[in-house]
Amino acid sequence: MRELSLVVDAKVALGEGPSWDSARQCVYWVDILGKNLHIYDLKTQTDRAVSVPEYITSVVPSTPGEVIVTLQHGFYRLDIQTGRLEVIRTVEEDMEGNRFNDGKCDPAGRLWAGTMAIDETRFQGNLYRMGRDKSVVKMMSGVSISNGLAWSPDATVMYYVDTPTREVVAYDYQLDSGSLENPRVVVRIPEDAGFPDGMTIDAEGMLWVAHWGGGRISRWDPVEGKLLEEVPIPASRVTSCVFAGENLNELYITTARNGLDEETLRQEPDAGGLFRLITDVKGSPTVRFELG
Ligand code: CA
Repeated sequence: MRELSLVVDAKVALGEGPSWDSARQCVYWVDILGKNLHIYDLKTQTDRAVSVPEYITSVVPSTPGEVIVTLQHGFYRLDIQTGRLEVIRTVEEDMEGNRFNDGKCDPAGRLWAGTMAIDETRFQGNLYRMGRDKSVVKMMSGVSISNGLAWSPDATVMYYVDTPTREVVAYDYQLDSGSLENPRVVVRIPEDAGFPDGMTIDAEGMLWVAHWGGGRISRWDPVEGKLLEEVPIPASRVTSCVFAGENLNELYITTARNGLDEETLRQEPDAGGLFRLITDVKGSPTVRFELG
């Protein structure tokens, strides 16, 4: 039995990029187009928003009171009490039509984040990796909509989604160097199931994929390439998910309203909300980013 509930009826434009801060017991998530960081406190079951001056596309926990976020063209420290931003590194400042998209830390604490063309022109994006020493390396180019990062529990495989391809691609991963080798497609999302967006992984090494335009989360065995389970979500634009909670068995799921017509919005009143699915598996922990 899976128990699904709407925990924040936020009706945001484009909910995205959730991460789990075990120290503060809260889920961070963003509304990219609404330019807000959201902080959902599991203890008080309340959500608050911190406004930022530009697109905010991903968030990871850092030192106490601080998160690391990607804004349109860079990595920033954000003080969650005062809202104060401090730039760490910028990328693609000369590419006004691009913005960052999803981002996440690898098990060694490097922050990976990719970019996309705002108008979704294909192959304009890149995938970057920032070390704790603030060094930024371009790891892939010619990406369309960079999404869906996850690492296997033993950190020997990285999984990646470039949304329009409808594929999850696995790479052999060298944790000590952060390098990628031997790409192969491990999951193909069928055309009638929308597009793969954000994803996470559980302690058994199974992927949980959000379906943009597919109204569901799917669980996959990436070794066998086998669909294990589908969980319908009452919002067609499901964007990402992360495991959270004391037992790491609560899957928090972000959704979007952006681009839906009035009739669809009437049918999906909870679109743009934050959902929680109680699962019977343990998830992977969110890795925080700390400057070295
Ligand atoms: Ca996304």
